[in-house]
Amino acid sequence: MNDKRLDTPIQYLKGVGPKLAKVLKKVGLETVEDILYFVPREYEDRTQIVPLGKVQPADFVIVKGLVASVNNQNTRGRFSVLKVRLEDRSGYIEAVWFNQPYLSGLFSHGMKLIVSGRVEMSEYSGTMQLVVREFEIDLGEDLKFVPRYPLTKGLYPKKIREIVKTAVNDYLKEIPDLLPEEIKTKYALLDIEKAIKKLHFPDNLAEVEPAHKRLAFDDFFVFQLGLLLRRKKTKKTPGIAFEIDQTNLDLFTNQLPFELTKAQQRVLSEILADMKGKHPMSRLIQGDVGSGKTIVATIAALAAIQNGYQVAIMAPTEILAQQHYTKVADFLSGQNVRVKLLTGTTQRKEQVSETAEWNLLIGTHALIEEKVQFEKLGLVIIDEQHRFGVLQRAKLKQKACLLASRRSGPAGRDFNPDIIFMTATPIPRSLAFTLYGDLDRSIIDEMPPGRTPIKTNYVPKSKRKSSYGFMRKEIEQGRQIFIVCPLVEESEKLDLKAAMEEAVRLQEDIFPDYKVGLLHGRLKGEEKERIMNEFKAGKLHILVSTTVIEVGIDIPNASVMVVEHAERFGLSQLHQLRGRIGRGVDQSYCFLFGDPKTEEAKERVKAMVESTDGFHIAEVDLRLRGPGDFLGVRQSGLPSFRVADIIKDEEILREARQAAKELLKADPTLKAEEHQLLKESIKSMYGKFLGY
Ligand code: ADP
Ligand code: MG
Repeated sequence: MNDKRLDTPIQYLKGVGPKLAKVLKKVGLETVEDILYFVPREYEDRTQIVPLGKVQPADFVIVKGLVASVNNQNTRGRFSVLKVRLEDRSGYIEAVWFNQPYLSGLFSHGMKLIVSGRVEMSEYSGTMQLVVREFEIDLGEDLKFVPRYPLTKGLYPKKIREIVKTAVNDYLKEIPDLLPEEIKTKYALLDIEKAIKKLHFPDNLAEVEPAHKRLAFDDFFVFQLGLLLRRKKTKKTPGIAFEIDQTNLDLFTNQLPFELTKAQQRVLSEILADMKGKHPMSRLIQGDVGSGKTIVATIAALAAIQNGYQVAIMAPTEILAQQHYTKVADFLSGQNVRVKLLTGTTQRKEQVSETAEWNLLIGTHALIEEKVQFEKLGLVIIDEQHRFGVLQRAKLKQKACLLASRRSGPAGRDFNPDIIFMTATPIPRSLAFTLYGDLDRSIIDEMPPGRTPIKTNYVPKSKRKSSYGFMRKEIEQGRQIFIVCPLVEESEKLDLKAAMEEAVRLQEDIFPDYKVGLLHGRLKGEEKERIMNEFKAGKLHILVSTTVIEVGIDIPNASVMVVEHAERFGLSQLHQLRGRIGRGVDQSYCFLFGDPKTEEAKERVKAMVESTDGFHIAEVDLRLRGPGDFLGVRQSGLPSFRVADIIKDEEILREARQAAKELLKADPTLKAEEHQLLKESIKSMYGKFLGY
């Protein structure tokens, strides 16, 4: 029997034990496999060791020397400095540690140390000192490039290196090579054993990149296989083959007050082609705020309704559902279509459970949670779903299918309606492959004509007054103003208070002759609706709001968007907010108030001022914040990869997706004996994430 399993708990590894295992857990290491895939954050180049006599001030140097003296000083209060004098034949240097007095016990006279860090001139003594970043006792190992791993308290560089070495020595042979030979050859990938070995112990730095590539490839490849298999499965289940009466649809389109853009036409024809097909559609429609997704969805809905099916449109909030309802009902007013708004609020009023008399139901996501019966549900449209990951989406889909089959389906059989997901968040490609790899995608990459690009300005405190003057002029010309105050979850109450006070201040001190309204998340649905309607009707000149207006609200007459504390918003969020204005032909303005202090906040403001391109902004945002925060921490919807980094390894991701497609072409269900390991890996690596 082979007891060398990769899932062996780390504490059973030679030289570890339960105590150290606990420490290792803090850096995410629990099994032997975790160690093998533990990625060094950098490599220390020991060929660059500088003789002490030759050291010059620099951001990073690495030196070696004998401990000549150890001196721990407490200066003012709790501040302490540990100084160790290192010597070699060429000279000496003082290595210093701040506030780590406990280290002094480690060093003794004559000990050999390898130390790296920043070299600077000491303000006091005027001599050079080395501010230590990392150190270790030199045991004369002959290492040229030393991996540096993430550390934690109680875990020293040399210890983790030893642990990795043991794991590699004892378990390297146990790592299965998942990849078929052809793929390794075609994409120039190392064998798995070599990759793991070189990741930890490269003979030169040029060896690191190919090692990383192979390991990141594996991560992506297996994941993409999972996504593509799921997509294939959808494509095989029976769905509805709608009959598309193009002439009839054209009649509808031709009487719209505008012509569809090329992009809208293209996306629509992609949707209609899916609807005609006999398998269920699972398609994501991506389009920047204002690109005109609603009319595309409406036409798809109409096509389904003309086939005698019901359609459900779902939005994330009541206000948005209400707004969709108004818009869609308006578009469809000349058609023989019965539209019904169904939200928490309407449910409280009339408790609808039977829907047979309506063709089109518009509501919040609660629409599918509540006990609403559909007679013949054929198409489900889910708006602003970028907040959901693959798993949440799968659940949503499952529910939609359940709902649809309760009555509409052939008795006892699964029944799959077509599903369209819509999002206004421009998702950069690398993320889209990961998040939406199981969907077909259509992008509305063109804005309706006649829009004047929004002018965006950063307004420092000193210029506030003049910007209020500017707003006044806009109001005098009949325009309206949004003022958004941020809401940060931890202190919701305080933030709310701030927003309320701001509304009062604006009303009383700045705009006493105009009407200021306040909209926030704590208001009841009806109350929100009332305020929105007043604003829409022009009864309010200024609407102060917490971020509830973040998505979707359509007030074409609003020409100014003020964002208070703009530095507190993410870039994509700012872009979404800005998208609330600029919907007419007139010039619109976005003012970013606040005081960006960090470099990152400054970059966000700069990107907003310089660009109105949603994709560009999303790319910058993703780069600044990383994928987790970009998508919102709560449900980032992203798997955690062992080695791969969605942003940095975008190129590898593309190749892995390509390779996964090729493999599935040859073996569509991974039936072949030699692909069983891959199949199992999908489950063991991402099963939870994919909902297997
Ligand atoms: P999205 O949902 O993508 O943010 P909407 O569907 O709300 O955008 O469209 C924004 C506005 O543009 C709406 O008032 C809509 O009626 C209008 N619109 C949509 N398509 C066009 C078009 N092709 N030409 C002119 N206006 C359009
Ligand atoms: Mg919309």
